[in-house]
Amino acid sequence: MESFLQKHYVRKKKSMQTVARELGCDCALVDYYMRKYQIPRRSISEARRLQSNHFRDVEIKEAKGVQSWIRAPMKTKRCSKCGKEKQLNEFYKSKINTGGHASQCKTCWKKQVKVYYRVNVEKIKKYFKEYSKTLHWKASAKKHSHNRRALLNSCEINDLTSTQIKTLLSAARVCTLCGRPFNDNERKKTIEHDVPVCRGGDNTLSNVQIACKSCNSKKGRKTSLEFAAHP
Ligand SMILES: [Zn+2]
Ligand SMILES: [Zn+2]
Repeated sequence: MESFLQKHYVRKKKSMQTVARELGCDCALVDYYMRKYQIPRRSISEARRLQSNHFRDVEIKEAKGVQSWIRAPMKTKRCSKCGKEKQLNEFYKSKINTGGHASQCKTCWKKQVKVYYRVNVEKIKKYFKEYSKTLHWKASAKKHSHNRRALLNSCEINDLTSTQIKTLLSAARVCTLCGRPFNDNERKKTIEHDVPVCRGGDNTLSNVQIACKSCNSKKGRKTSLEFAAHP
């Protein structure tokens, strides 16, 4: 047991979990033997560094008495839930996980999400109801719809961001076209293109303004100047 731990944990730098899996026993048992044979545990920072190398199954080659590591790039990953070894594309990408992939495979993840949804369905519905009222959601929804339309009309500058829309929406007090003030729920704020996208206008900050919904739909394909002349 001692030589096994020395070989795999100390020299091959395998994690305790990996060693336990290879032995087919519990992590706690490995921990017990580590204490018994007084094998020093790796510090957390070192373990993290080993993990974040994105490499696994380190092989050590000895040549002329000098040890060198051969690091095999990770092609497969073991799912933490079902324990099966799977290809990397079986895992969702995740920025917060080391290695850039989620710890659970897609199948297990989907199962878990389904269970979570079933348990918390009321909470989730309430959350989205509240969230869809926020300025952040409105701005981002507007951004997506405008960017999509701009893409369809293949306009040249298409760089309107949801932050810009958010600022415009929160700052606007009156409609740019009719000058009437925005009262709560009575008049809806919409993003309006000075030169419409369908007529070659850009989807960028200098070409947009806030107008009420009725003015926006009345204006249609006219530019602001044309609309002012013939409302
Ligand atoms: Zn799985
Ligand atoms: Zn108006």
